[in-house]
This record gives sequence, structure tokens and C-alpha cells, in this order.
Amino acid sequence: MIYKRSSELYKEAKKVIPGGVNSPVRAFKAVGGSPIFASMAKGAYLYDEDGNRYIDYISSWGPMILGHAHPKVLKSITKVVKNGTSFGMPTELETKLAKLALSMVPKMDKIRFVNSGTEACMSAIRLARGFTKRDKIIKFSGCYHGHSDSFLIEAGSGVITFGEPNSPGVTKGTAKDTIIAPYNDISYLKSIFKENVNQIAAVIIEPVAGNMGCIVPNPGFLETLREICDLNNSLLIFDEVMTGFRLSKGGAQQIFEINADIVTYGKVIGGGLPVGAFASRNEIMDELSPIGKVYQAGTLSGNPLAMTAGYATLNELNNNSDIYTSLNEKREYLEIEMKKILKDNKVDFQINSCGSMISLHFCSSPVVDFNSSLKGNNNFFKKYFHGMLKEGIYLPPSPFESYFLNNALSFNDIDFTLNALKKVCKSL
Ligand SMILES: *Cc1c(COP(=O)(O)O)cnc(C)c1O
Repeated sequence: MIYKRSSELYKEAKKVIPGGVNSPVRAFKAVGGSPIFASMAKGAYLYDEDGNRYIDYISSWGPMILGHAHPKVLKSITKVVKNGTSFGMPTELETKLAKLALSMVPKMDKIRFVNSGTEACMSAIRLARGFTKRDKIIKFSGCYHGHSDSFLIEAGSGVITFGEPNSPGVTKGTAKDTIIAPYNDISYLKSIFKENVNQIAAVIIEPVAGNMGCIVPNPGFLETLREICDLNNSLLIFDEVMTGFRLSKGGAQQIFEINADIVTYGKVIGGGLPVGAFASRNEIMDELSPIGKVYQAGTLSGNPLAMTAGYATLNELNNNSDIYTSLNEKREYLEIEMKKILKDNKVDFQINSCGSMISLHFCSSPVVDFNSSLKGNNNFFKKYFHGMLKEGIYLPPSPFESYFLNNALSFNDIDFTLNALKKVCKSL
């Protein structure tokens, strides 16, 4: 494949945008080489500026669950855009999307729209702190909740009382209110609560982690987490920015039959436009301004184009439950066949999956938390990634991300992908 125009565009972008990208993972730093610039996308395919075509396994990191440029989503945006693009006044579209979203997810009374998953999670912990009148939060290492200060924290050395900043610019003052726990480790979690009696406002978790590969909670883990939060009057926040409307209509809450106190959304809920949201029961949501005292706002929040793209996407998912069945079938087929090929080629690997999320780690021991996800062979991953890319398969350019399937993907596309994998395995 030729990447001439992409490399030229990258050179120009780097002059005016740090690292040439507006979100770091796009820069290919983890896999080497220079990023490919997209020109358009349709269905399951991405096209780059040099005219190369790729089968897309990231779906814009989640949102494009129906596939790119879905006719119903495009139609709704085209219709709404003619009436203007932003008003700074409430619109009926916001209520329509709110009602639809709330009707699909379990036990949520009200929802507030923001512009990204980051904003949703940031606002959710502020709300949890305001509601409980406590300061500390617990997050799990390897879970990503966006880039707001409270989440850019790593475990302090050997202490379970507070964390430390893992980005310059995050203050120690902020870090002291975030405690880090290993995913899937109940006894560690219990010890944190024991040392911080009546201080934990909330525990935030990706109910299925998608940002250290795909990591599924151990049986009973989320149930016990729910009990511990109840015992300590702490709120449980499910970060469903990735899993929401992806794993099922009602997200992870529905498939695990566990209700969180606050749930955050993003990605699919905006159908490819910038939307985030957080939802909870009335008692908690009514603490938010303008009714309550917890401040939260946004100039472009509830933007009409974003609301209509989200509505068209959720409506399609809501009216066609078979989309989830079909996504599951495609993932299952991909998973089974990938396993066969990798085994035949004597590659050490772990495949984790849930619904339309699947990840491949090149290591021999199970991946159940952040530490075990680090054991993958990164050099091997780089070769695999670039090999697949040359065959026209666009995978996440990082060994710590899942694939997010979209429903435009056909079994033929998957067979094409599996053939590419066979070729790439031979050359590794
Ligand atoms: C993507 C993601 C976020 C951040 O959302 P942005 O829209 O990128 O700010 C938060 N949490 C999870 C689980 C995510 O996957």
C-alpha cells in the first residue's frame, strides 16, 4: 500500500497540532510508523487519503456501531442542519433523545447531556461527591474514564490510602482523593473501604473494561462491588461510555443484571457526533443545577445535530434487537476462527471478549487486570498490527485496546480478515 499523501498530511499536521493528532492513540506511537489520514468511511470500510480501503475494527473507537455513514443517521442530520446548528436554548430533540435513552436502560429517571465521555465521568464524580458529601473516589487501574484530572492517577507505591498523579499537570492535591484498586480484586477493595470509613463518595468502574484490551469482570465481582457500596453508603458509578448501547440496549447493567447509582454514556449515544451523558435516579439527578447546588453546564450540550444523530442511532438499535444478536454472532465467528489460526501457528495468545468487544493479547497467561495485560509481547503486536494493516485491516493501533465491531461488517469481511491473519501469521 502507498501512504504518500498520509505522510505529507502528517508532516503538515505536526507543524500546527502537537504530535499531529488531537487524541494521542491516533499517532501510532505504540506500533510505530506514521498515522494514516482518513478521507471517508462507509459501512464497514475506511478509506484513506491515498485511496486505500480498510475493513474497520475500531468503529471510531465505539460510536459507529451501525457502521459508517448509516443512511438513517445521515438523513436525520441533513434534515436538522437546515434549521440551524446551535441555539443556546432548549430543543425538543433533547427530550426525545433523553426519553428514548432512558427507556432503553434499566432504572434511570433522568439524564443530562454533555459533549464527551470525559465530561460525563468528570460530572458524575462531582455529582457523587455533592450527593454523598464525601471527597474520595475509587477507580480501578487500567480503566479509562477520560482525561479529567481525578482519573489521571496511578497507585501510590505500596499505599492504599491515596494515589499519585500519572500526568504532569495533575496536582498531588487532586491525586490524594483518588484511590486505585486492581480490577477483579475484591479483597483489596474491602481493605480500601476499611481504611477509609465514611470517606468514599463513589466507586467508578468500566463494567467490562475496554481500555486494557477487553477484560470481563469475574463472576460475582460486580455483585460484590454493589454490596460493598451499599454497605458503605457509597455510590456505584458504571462508566458505560463504551459498553452503553453496545453490549445490549441496556448496556452492561442489563447483561449483568446489576444497577449502578450513576451511569455515564458516550460514544454510541452520539451516533458519531460529540455526545456524552450521565444518568441516575431523581434523588441524585435533582442535586444538579439549576434545581440543586452541584454545578454543571455546557454551551454546546444537547446540540441539535448531535441529538438527532444519537436519536437515529439509538432508535435503530431499539427497533432491531437482532442487531445485538448479529454482532454477537460475528464476534463469535471471528473469535473461534482467530483462535484456530493462532493455535495452528503456535502463537502464544489470549483472546477476551464480550458482545461486540474482543481483544487479542500476545501472552500465555490469562489477562484479568491491568498487570496481566502488560505481559503481552509488544514487538510481536507491532508486527501483527502492521502486517494486518498492509492487508487492509484496520485494527486498534495499541495492544491495550479492544476491537469494537460494527454491524455493517459482513461474514465475507470477516473471512477476508481471517485470510489476512493466516498470511500475517506465516510472516511473523
Ligand atoms: C472513551 C471512553 C471515555 C472517554 O470518552 P471521550 O468521549 O473520549 O472523552 C470514558 N470512559 C470510557 C469507558 C471510554 O471508553
